[in-house]
Amino acid sequence: MSAAAFPLDPSLWHATAAPAPDCPPLDKDVEVDVAIVGGGYAGLSTALHLAERGVGCIVLEAREPGWGGSGRNGGQVIPGLKYDPDEMVEKFGPEAGKALTAFAASTADTVFELIAKHQMNVPHVRNGWIQGAHIPSMIETAKKRSAQWAALGANTEFFDKAKTDEHLGTDVYLAGWIDRRGGAVQPLSYARELCRAAQRAGAVVHGQTPVAGLSREGSKWKVKTAQGRTVTAGKVVLCTNGYTKDYYPKLARTVIAPNSYQVATEPLSDNVRKSILPYGQVSSDTRQLLLYFRLDHEGRLLMGGRGPFREPNDKSDWAHLERVIARMFPAAKEAPIHYRWCGRVAVTRDFLPHLHEPEPGLIVNIGCMGRGVGLESTMGKALAAYAATGDRKTLPFPVTPVRTIPFHGLNRAYVAAVVTYYRMRDAGLA
Ligand SMILES: Cc1cc2nc3c(=O)[nH]c(=O)nc-3n(C[C@H](O)[C@H](O)[C@H](O)COP(=O)(O)OP(=O)(O)OC[C@H]3O[C@@H](n4cnc5c(N)ncnc54)[C@H](O)[C@@H]3O)c2cc1C
Repeated sequence: MSAAAFPLDPSLWHATAAPAPDCPPLDKDVEVDVAIVGGGYAGLSTALHLAERGVGCIVLEAREPGWGGSGRNGGQVIPGLKYDPDEMVEKFGPEAGKALTAFAASTADTVFELIAKHQMNVPHVRNGWIQGAHIPSMIETAKKRSAQWAALGANTEFFDKAKTDEHLGTDVYLAGWIDRRGGAVQPLSYARELCRAAQRAGAVVHGQTPVAGLSREGSKWKVKTAQGRTVTAGKVVLCTNGYTKDYYPKLARTVIAPNSYQVATEPLSDNVRKSILPYGQVSSDTRQLLLYFRLDHEGRLLMGGRGPFREPNDKSDWAHLERVIARMFPAAKEAPIHYRWCGRVAVTRDFLPHLHEPEPGLIVNIGCMGRGVGLESTMGKALAAYAATGDRKTLPFPVTPVRTIPFHGLNRAYVAAVVTYYRMRDAGLA
């Protein structure tokens, strides 16, 4: 079966990643300070930063490090959250809002600093991220975003239509703005190298070790694996995000976890390559169901966006993205599509990451949204600080009660309907 015909693995990232680290399954009962469930950026960064503090920790990953969103994403490193700085102050008040903005501002730095500090074998560039305005009302939004972050010291600039066209290599946007703190990584290489850095620092990482259940006994947690092993831990940090199932009651029903779809062409010819994102930025737009695109380190064009909620059936589930390439970048429309893949993001009702501690010592991080490369790397640092010290001031978000989304099953159907609606509305492109 060709790579293109295989719906999930290997993705482009699997085909071009740094070798997988050695993470054998857990084969005996063990005791540790902190057990971490999930080996994506959040879990691995938590492990790295705990190990650097001298705290004993184990990561339990159901498949292999980076198997989830962390090895499947667009690799765009974008600072900030869904909300602009003024909206965060409005939502959380002046003090907490400013602290959150500072956290959001730091997320891209974390990724590039980790890559440099640990000399990671990760193809990366830091030439900025551009957000194109797809409708007239978003031109003002782009201006406002650029100005707000610039006022806080970020290197941003509003682009008029001509400058947006020039930088993106397409004429479909009305204007845009650039945030020069952003950039790109090979996302699976980054996950694997983060894992290696955590292992070198002293963390233990077990792949092929799904967690089946959790229980509290006295002051300790017992983490049961599907193979029947037990990890006894003082604290547990749950980092399973868009792949959360029922190993802890209700958690999966606090988020909707839609699939995001991507295609990648074969490496483009030099001439075509020079006409698309010629200055080396990455980009996503202001649509509700946004489109995101970039070139990879070998000159392939990637296009990503929403697709069916369910797992894909066949190539037709990616056909809308191929039509987008043809419309936005006609010079690339003949380039064969070599890879098609998808992955799940966890979306909360308020579009912000959620932190919970439903029982003492059980720390939950869920709601990674679409900016998790920077967000979850930085969240891992904060989770490690909290697990090590117990000081909630180390956390960027308030710790809230676990609240399930009412009519969760219906919400999944609702998301599917919304996807269809926006795809029809944006039919000029998709
Ligand atoms: C297609 C796609 C494109 C995206 N594009 C971008 C982008 O360009 N830029 C950006 O910033 N963000 C992007 N994101 C979001 C980003 O990838 C995620 O926010 C981030 O990877 C989440 O990291 P995480 O560690 O929280 O979760 P994940 O990486 O999803 O890791 C969760 C892990 O938990 C494991 N797990 C689940 N259940 C169990 C269990 N019971 N026991 C043990 N392990 C378990 C899973 O196997 C998985 O490896 C994208 C996401 C997707 C899916």
